[in-house]
Amino acid sequence: MLKGRSAVITGSTSGIGAGIARALAAQGADILLNGFGAAEAIESLRAGLAAEFGVRVLYHGADLARAEHCDALVRTAEEAFGRLDILVNNAGIQHVARVEDFPPSRWDAVLAVNLSSVFHTTRAALPGMRARGWGRLINVASVHGLVASAEKAAYVAAKHGVVGLTKVVALENAESPVTCNAICPGWVLTPLVEAQIAARAAREGIPVPQAERELLLEKQPSGRFTTVEQLGGLAVFLCSEAAANITGATLPVDGGWLAR
Ligand code: NAD
Repeated sequence: MLKGRSAVITGSTSGIGAGIARALAAQGADILLNGFGAAEAIESLRAGLAAEFGVRVLYHGADLARAEHCDALVRTAEEAFGRLDILVNNAGIQHVARVEDFPPSRWDAVLAVNLSSVFHTTRAALPGMRARGWGRLINVASVHGLVASAEKAAYVAAKHGVVGLTKVVALENAESPVTCNAICPGWVLTPLVEAQIAARAAREGIPVPQAERELLLEKQPSGRFTTVEQLGGLAVFLCSEAAANITGATLPVDGGWLAR
């Protein structure tokens, strides 16, 4: 379905981004990976996707906290593939603390990676997409783009910002064949959430599996984690013709979290 298309997925060396990269590669898209990690692990991911799906897979180590790196990431895809059709803004970080204890440096870091990078990459990618007459901007926000949880001030503020930015970009491009949507996952078992489970187990003096169960059931009525494969499937759908008139939407994949 996506043969001849190319995609940048930010933060695709781990978790949800890696799952979305895999799903887009499986549909034939060329992929530019991004994110941090050990060089051998990243090379193994890159070479593995290229071999399994017969697509071009490249890697760029842009630090999305830096505006000029965001721009370089988009330019690299345009130069290497001759086009950038799909931009998945997925990279994200978390810091958990009450507002009065929240270090300002962590606030700045979360806002830079989770929100400002989405502006910088989108700004860089839009002119090419509009000129070529097709584009898909997919922002991995969160249920925390729509509701709050305590001790996540920067994350919740950034994700609400991503949802707002998604709507503005959708409106500004509504008459063009470029769509912009936000995916809003609930709990997904990735390193970002494993760290929160470990912290909960330590704080409450309970085993990790019990902390995992409590964390899940507190918010996500299904009692099941959303999987990276499910999110990859949604990203593929948003790139399909069936989704051509979906824009400015926030799409929860949250086991009923927002239905409460
Ligand atoms: P993860 O920690 O597994 O992956 C995060 C990725 O972002 C990694 O590849 C990491 O290297 C990259 N990254 C972090 N800082 C970066 C920077 N400065 N520059 C470039 N890359 C950077 O986390 P995940 O759970 O897969 O999260 C992916 C996205 O999904 C995030 O935006 C997160 O907020 C969102 N999300 C996650 C969950 C969940 O339950 N896991 C739920 C809702 C939303």
